[in-house]
Amino acid sequence: MPADRIITNARVLTMNPAQPRAEAVAMSGGQILAVGTRAEVEALAGPLTEVMDAHGRTVLPGFVESHLHLGLGGAELSHLHVTGLRGHDALAQAFRSFAQKNPERTLLMAQGADYAMLDHPVTRHDLDAMVPDRPIAMTAHDHHTVWANTAALRSAGILGGLQTPHGHEVVMGADGLATGELREFEAFAPIIALGGETRLNLGIATGAEPSPWPDAAERAIDKAKIHDGLRHCAAHGITSMVNMDGNRYTLELLREIQAEGNLLARVKVPFHLKPHMDLSELDRAEAMTRDFNDEWLQSGFVKMFMDGVVDSRTAFMLNDYPDMPGHRSEPLFTPARFCEVATEIDRRGLQIAVHAIGDAAVRTTIDGYEAAQMANGKRDSRHRIEHIELIDRADIARLGRLGIIASLQPPHPPGALDFPLMPTLERIGTARWPDAYLWKTLAMAGAPVAFASDWPVTDVSVLRGLQAALTRTPFDGCGDERLTLMESLYAYTAGGAWAAHRDHVTGQLIPGMAADIVMLDVDLETTPPAEFGKCAVMLTICGGTVTYRHNA
Ligand SMILES: [Zn+2]
Repeated sequence: MPADRIITNARVLTMNPAQPRAEAVAMSGGQILAVGTRAEVEALAGPLTEVMDAHGRTVLPGFVESHLHLGLGGAELSHLHVTGLRGHDALAQAFRSFAQKNPERTLLMAQGADYAMLDHPVTRHDLDAMVPDRPIAMTAHDHHTVWANTAALRSAGILGGLQTPHGHEVVMGADGLATGELREFEAFAPIIALGGETRLNLGIATGAEPSPWPDAAERAIDKAKIHDGLRHCAAHGITSMVNMDGNRYTLELLREIQAEGNLLARVKVPFHLKPHMDLSELDRAEAMTRDFNDEWLQSGFVKMFMDGVVDSRTAFMLNDYPDMPGHRSEPLFTPARFCEVATEIDRRGLQIAVHAIGDAAVRTTIDGYEAAQMANGKRDSRHRIEHIELIDRADIARLGRLGIIASLQPPHPPGALDFPLMPTLERIGTARWPDAYLWKTLAMAGAPVAFASDWPVTDVSVLRGLQAALTRTPFDGCGDERLTLMESLYAYTAGGAWAAHRDHVTGQLIPGMAADIVMLDVDLETTPPAEFGKCAVMLTICGGTVTYRHNA
C-alpha cells in the first residue's frame, strides 16, 4: 500500500519509548503507516504520494491540549486583550480605541486583566472614568473575577445586587450599590449575557442546557466561535483537546461542525456536575458518553470545581491566608458529599476531573478518589486533578499510589510566563512557596503528568507553554520543578493522550495509530528554550488531513 503522504529528513520525536527517534514518517488513510529511516519510509512512496522535506526540523505527535475552554477561547479571540497592560491610562486608552472600532457592540469586554492592574482594587468608578457611556467590563486572566462599569451593571440589572449561590458574589459597596467586582460565574453571568455569549458559557456557569434549544441561526453564531477556536488551536499544532467545561449542547455543536467537515481536532467534552445537583443527573453524563463515542468526539468524564483561585482568596487552604488571618476559604463540596459523588461517578465507569488549587481542596479531592477506589475496587479510572497549585507534602505520595493524574499548566506559576508574581505569591505566603506549583516532585512521586494551558486563561500556544516549562526559575528558597524537554514534550503529547483515555488513538507516532502530526520550524533540541515561544508551527495534520499550514 503506497503512502498518501511522507514527511522525511526530519528529527522525528515519536514519544514511543520503543523507538524514540526516526527520520521519516509515512501516513495512509488517516493513520501512521511507517516510522523509520529515510530509506525505509521513502520506499513507501507511490506516484501520488506527497513527499515533504522537513529540512531537519522537529516532527512530533500532534499536541494534546489537556485542559482548555474551546468555546470561551474562540469567543474571546474577538474581545479586547489587555494582558500585560499596567495603570489607568494604558487601560483607558485600550478601552477607548476598542470602543471606537466596535461601535455596534452591546458590551465592550476585555480579557487578561490581572488583579494588580491598577494600584488599588478595581471598581466601577475606575472603569466609568475610562468609558462612561457604554457598558464595558474586563475579565481577570483566571476567569474567576469580572469587573464592570456602572453602565454594564445597570444594563445587566445587577447594580443593586444579585442573589447568588454560595461562593459567587456581586460585591456590594457602602453606598448599597455593586462596587463593580463580580466574583465567580454566577455573579458575572448577567454581564456575559450582555455580550450575547450566554449559551457558550452555560457549560462552565451552570452545566445546564440552553432552554429553549437554540435555533439554527443561534447555533450558527456559536459554531462560528467554536470554529475560530479550532482554527486557532490547529495553528498551534494541537490535534486533540480536552474541553473542561461542557454540556450536551457543546457536543451537538461539535457534531454539526464535524458533519460540515470543519472539525479540526479530536475533542472531549465533560458533563459539568455542580454541587447542588442530584446524583441522578449523572444519567445525563452517561447519555453523553453513550451518544458521543468515536475517535473525534467523546465525553466519558465529569468535571467539578472543588474551590476557586488564590488571587481572590477562594482557593481552599489548610492554613490561613497570610494576608487575611482566620480565612482559609471553603470547599464547594463538603468532604463527605464529595466522597459520595466521586464513588457514584466511578461506579458508573466514568472518569473524574476536579479543579483543585488550594492544598485543602487537593486533599479533599484525593480523599474522594481514595474512597471511590475502596468502594468500587481498583479499575483503570485515570481520575485527574486540575491545577494542584498547592499541595501538602503528606499528600504527594498519595497521587502516585492512587494513580491520580496531575493536570498541570506550565504558563500558570506566577513569573513563569505572563502572570505577575503578585498578588499570588503573597497570598500563598513564603512558608508555603516550597509546595507551590510542583511538577517534578509530583512526577517523581509517580503521578502521571499532563500539560495544558487552560486557554483562554493563558495563551494556548504549546511552544510558549514549553518555554515556560523549561525556563521557569524557582521561587526564593525553593527547588527546581522543571521536567526535561523530553518529559515536557511527553506531557504535551502521549501523557495528555493517556490522561484522556485516548492513548490507543493518538499521542505517539506508531504504525496503526492516527496520523496526528505537528512539524515545527526549528529543531527543538538545538534551540534555546528561551526562544521556543518565538518558534512557529509549520504544519499540523490531524487524522491524515492538513489542518494548518504556515503561510498557506
Ligand atoms: Zn479551566
